[in-house]
Amino acid sequence: MAQQYPEWIWQNGSIKPWQEATTHVMSHALHYGSSVFEGIRSYATPDGAAIFRLTDHLNRLYQSARIYDMVLPYSFDDLAGACRAVIKKNSLGAAYLRPVAYRGLGGFGLSAETPIDVAVAAWPMGPYLGAEALENGIDACVSSWQRFAPNTIPAGAKAGGNYLSGQLIAREARRLGFGEGIALASSGLLSEGAGENLFLVFDGVLHTTPASASILAGITRDTLKTLAREEGIEVVERDIPREYLYLADEVLMCGTAAEITPIRSVDGKQVGAGKAGRVTRRLQELYFGLFDGRTNDRWGWLESV
Ligand code: PMP
Repeated sequence: MAQQYPEWIWQNGSIKPWQEATTHVMSHALHYGSSVFEGIRSYATPDGAAIFRLTDHLNRLYQSARIYDMVLPYSFDDLAGACRAVIKKNSLGAAYLRPVAYRGLGGFGLSAETPIDVAVAAWPMGPYLGAEALENGIDACVSSWQRFAPNTIPAGAKAGGNYLSGQLIAREARRLGFGEGIALASSGLLSEGAGENLFLVFDGVLHTTPASASILAGITRDTLKTLAREEGIEVVERDIPREYLYLADEVLMCGTAAEITPIRSVDGKQVGAGKAGRVTRRLQELYFGLFDGRTNDRWGWLESV
């Protein structure tokens, strides 16, 4: 089935019909990957549509832009307003929001000072790795592609060009029949999934890879760390060798799109009991509870539309 698009999109300061939100083929970003973006979800909560951790996501957008010397021509409030506007104008509840800022038309050199164009799209979105995945978990594999080394491309920026790496990892995994790929860092230690952070459970303790493992410091990762600690579950950030994937009691991936996806096997080896384990289930309850009111949002993470 062809992709259905919502009617309205925000581009460079105004809401316009989706098909009018176009860009020039000679835009810098199209050739050199010079864009920064966010992936945010809104949920239909008992108190109406709310955008999850909008402030944190927009802060990360400005940080990504700063790393690449891109000065966004819109204020934080302008972009927060744009996010709310695309949800409202398209009458969306549970949706995915995509703010993107990119080097537009205005120079062909690598270091050209081009205008910075900004757009915010939103569309309805269910579970990213399939509805089944949240319940039964996915089969993952370790990718033959490594993540970029920290002194090559900064993994801490959510930049368009980084996702060439993610595409290689995700496409290879799917070609081989796996639900998602996990990458090693250039150190040979575990990094993260193609578009998700990674948690392993050993004896009830959550282990996750550190910033030095070429990861994007995910907002879902931060949410899970907070929810787990609140629950009395210990969380440690540490270097993790690959073989620990085969020894863990539980493995899960998390991200805005993937939410909390259990991993039931890695490289064909069953993880734990081959289904979501106790800690993963509890984290899912707490996480999804934020959106249906079962978990008290003590942190002000739900930002109403
Ligand atoms: N790592 C990568 C490479 C990602 O693309 C994402 C998704 N943005 C994540 C981790 C998870 O980040 P977040 O929880 O902020 O969505």
